[in-house]
Amino acid sequence: MAKFTWVDKETCISCGSCEEIAPDIFEYDDEGLSQVTLDDNTGTKEVPETFVEDLIEAEECCPSESIKVQDVPFKNKVSVE
Ligand code: SF4
Repeated sequence: MAKFTWVDKETCISCGSCEEIAPDIFEYDDEGLSQVTLDDNTGTKEVPETFVEDLIEAEECCPSESIKVQDVPFKNKVSVE
């Protein structure tokens, strides 16, 4: 199943969990907030299958529920499911 993801920086608390769990997907911006490396945090590019397991773990471990994941590309950062 395809997965798409982005980080809501409005709620990210820079805990570091997601980058530790899934360093191929997440990185920090200049303000220390997490973002998705694949597509400039737009949620429009499919996460490579080899990283999906890490993505799901990172989503489940995010203490502020800032990691958004769905099966289709995000549009305007609003779920279309
Ligand atoms: S796990 Fe969540 S709160 Fe922590 S850095 Fe990542 S997105 Fe931000």
